[in-house]
Amino acid sequence: MRWSWAILLLLTGVCLNAAAAENIEQVLERSQHMRLAQRPAAEADSPAAQRVRHSVQQLTRLAGANVPSVELVLVGGDLFAEALLDRPGIAVSQAVGDLPEGERLLLLAHELGHVRLAHARALKALYRTHIPGEVRPETTNGANAALGREAHGLSHRHEHEADAYGYALVRLLGFGLDNAFALLTRQGVQHDSATHPGTRRRIAQLRMLEESLAKQQGLTAAEVSAMAIAWAQR
Ligand SMILES: [Zn+2]
Repeated sequence: MRWSWAILLLLTGVCLNAAAAENIEQVLERSQHMRLAQRPAAEADSPAAQRVRHSVQQLTRLAGANVPSVELVLVGGDLFAEALLDRPGIAVSQAVGDLPEGERLLLLAHELGHVRLAHARALKALYRTHIPGEVRPETTNGANAALGREAHGLSHRHEHEADAYGYALVRLLGFGLDNAFALLTRQGVQHDSATHPGTRRRIAQLRMLEESLAKQQGLTAAEVSAMAIAWAQR
């Protein structure tokens, strides 16, 4: 749900800590590995972990047989979900299994949206454009302002697209705006951040999407997903 680290990394001087001869993609991927490794382990057989696995399977089945499979990495600790940067997969904390079903499905479908829409690839490509080749202080100097601005725009667009994809999919299971509102306000109303649109804008977008989806009847999950993505990218 959050990629704030991607920008923070650069602004907090992670480049200076890059291992020898790493490019920016490797730095970003390694940083994610390190953050995930710092989390406590999940209790893989716990009811909460089983609910997460079940919900991911349910969403994968719903998305259709021709959609590539997505790896699920279960971790412990507080409420957390994030798309992996180095492969098609999502890291999800077991605590997600304790959310009410509609919120759990929406959160997971949002992350699956990031994977399906190849957002990690686009974000890494943007970083690579600004910081080509080996990451060294001299290759990153001056990249911060332009990269920060463009990464901000790209991240916000990605969030809206993943919201639209996830909402349209989970709506097919009978959940809707009330569940999205509950999820998005769970940690209070957030203002715009470097990586995420504020809560009010995200909810406003989903209300408009709901109006569009409500006019459509009898579409397949693939058609609904395509429509939601096109709507978010308009
Ligand atoms: Zn997200």
